[in-house]
Amino acid sequence: MFDATETNLPILLSIDDSELIHRLLRARLHNERVQLHTASSSKEGLELARRLKPDVILLDLDMPEMDGFEIITRLKDDPATQNIAVIFVSASNDTANRVRGLDLGAVDFIAKPFDVVELKARLRSALRVQHLIKILAQKAQIDGASGLWNRTYFDKRLEAEVSEALRYNKPLSIIVVDLDRFKSTNDQFGHLFGDLVIERFATIMSGGRTSDVVCRYGGEEFGIILPQTTAAEAAEVAERWRNKLAGTTWQDHSGLVLTASFGICDLASLEAPKTPTALFAAADKAMYQAKKDGRNRVEVWPSKRLPILVTGS
Ligand SMILES: [Mg+2]
Repeated sequence: MFDATETNLPILLSIDDSELIHRLLRARLHNERVQLHTASSSKEGLELARRLKPDVILLDLDMPEMDGFEIITRLKDDPATQNIAVIFVSASNDTANRVRGLDLGAVDFIAKPFDVVELKARLRSALRVQHLIKILAQKAQIDGASGLWNRTYFDKRLEAEVSEALRYNKPLSIIVVDLDRFKSTNDQFGHLFGDLVIERFATIMSGGRTSDVVCRYGGEEFGIILPQTTAAEAAEVAERWRNKLAGTTWQDHSGLVLTASFGICDLASLEAPKTPTALFAAADKAMYQAKKDGRNRVEVWPSKRLPILVTGS
């Protein structure tokens, strides 16, 4: 019933002091595409919510120590758990309780004993909403003009990729790219044309390997994270992009050649401490070296010079 891959099933957490309810849920949901976790106390429930980050919590209203209202208040106060969809479960059908639960941020209310068809339908509905919320959160990290990831995402992702590469001793490269003389292109041909150039270049860079993370870092500056990739391999990728851009023909501007300068660094070339900031700074330095050397070229940090290929005009 749930649309997810086997390894990435939605997580459902049931917080209920009744072991019978947990057994019932396990029996009725065991064929469903969902990972079920259970907590029998409010304390355990709050801990699991923070640790598992479930998509949906089934929360018993009537619990000893801390009732469901108190638990949902804590969930909504904590940034780590505030976006989890909470469905209240209660034996009481009291309207005042339902209203209070919804006002505290619950998305739904289910009466005990469960009607299994209704339970599944309400779960599906909650998961659909959670899915949309995730998409919206992702969209906020996408640059509107190019469709690439934005700088916020780049910084976050780079940090994660650097720590993973260090932990598992895997190669990692980044490319910093700057379009050559972009300001004068904008001045000469207008901003609409400038936007078209950004879009076209974004398409060139996105056409490659799906594991590469392509971001628009600033106006005409881009950052690309290449997991499991050495500097030499990254240089080949950059060389392909450089070549493609330089060979692009522009409608209404025949003969116009637009180019970009590329700087590359991989984690292995860095001295300790190998930080995301140091990695970016080194690739940025290489990019400036490429500019200094005449633009439209790929430079690898620290000093290895790459031959410039002749563009197939
Ligand atoms: Mg109870």
